[in-house]
Amino acid sequence: MSEFTVLIVDDETLNRTLLTELLRGESRILLAKNAKQAFSLIQRRKPDLILLDILMPDMDGYEVIRILKEDSQTREIPVIFITSLDDPRDEEKGLALGAADYISKPFRPAIVQARVRNQLKLIHQRRLLEELARIDGLTEIPNRRHFTQVLTKEWRRCQRQQSPLSLAVVDVDHFKAYNDHYGHAEGDQVLRTIAQTLQKSLHRASDFVARYGGEEFVLLLPEMEAPAATQLAQSICQAVEALRIPHSRSPVSPWVTISIGGTTEIPPAVHQEPLRDFFDTADAYLYEAKRRGRNQVCWGKAH
Ligand code: GH3
Ligand code: MG
Ligand code: MG
Repeated sequence: MSEFTVLIVDDETLNRTLLTELLRGESRILLAKNAKQAFSLIQRRKPDLILLDILMPDMDGYEVIRILKEDSQTREIPVIFITSLDDPRDEEKGLALGAADYISKPFRPAIVQARVRNQLKLIHQRRLLEELARIDGLTEIPNRRHFTQVLTKEWRRCQRQQSPLSLAVVDVDHFKAYNDHYGHAEGDQVLRTIAQTLQKSLHRASDFVARYGGEEFVLLLPEMEAPAATQLAQSICQAVEALRIPHSRSPVSPWVTISIGGTTEIPPAVHQEPLRDFFDTADAYLYEAKRRGRNQVCWGKAH
């Protein structure tokens, strides 16, 4: 669990020292002796877990947790209260404010260690689940949910920087006929292979590919102008056909092919979220690529 960072907030030096000794083996430790230091560290280092004293000069632990829970950036960080207040009503109040756990001082070292370990285990499991929830089960590339998150993020980033964002929608040609002839299991294998091919064709860290659903994929290419994006899409079309996956029922080619529709836009500074239009435009060009005979790229602007 040493990949975790734990912030200890306590105004007494002795407590900070004792807790550090106890937890050093479990995680990286950050120390704050008051709320002000704590907030500054939280902002800069984003700890995974916070051990929080309640009685402190200036701002007490209750107030600190209230502020943390109000901010979407810090809301999810679990907080364990470690305090000399031993009235059950204090514990109730702490838990009601959203604390993950509550430990009374003087604490038993083994109990502190066990409870911290439990929290870290929960964080670890939650992150694994979050990761799984963003991966498509069949192709093991990001799924539509993940794409939606990345699209929103990249749209905002390109909006701030006033830089172009390119989006391509990819669809397998005559895939129903493929399934009907070769079977669904073979069809699944084709989708896996195409997913790998798409992934291999992207080279920059910010380029992103996802399975949008069914036999459709999406490519998100931040800071790429239309000509470069079109060229990339064309090379991807060729790469898929060059896999030479037999498709005897396709009128387009003896091999499995894809069609790609795409669009490039500098997100306008005035509009907030015209994301739906952005996607629909790329999708409309996909339809156009299909109409023109498939196995090709159609790229253009919104009408
Ligand atoms: P077009 O060239 O116009 O795209 O024709 P198409 O047959 O590919 O399009 P259509 O939308 O009619 O059919 C899509 C097919 O994709 C239907 C479905 O059987 C297949 N498909 C969707 N998801 C999966 C999947 O997860 N596995 C497999 N094997 N097939 C899938
Ligand atoms: Mg299709
Ligand atoms: Mg389709």
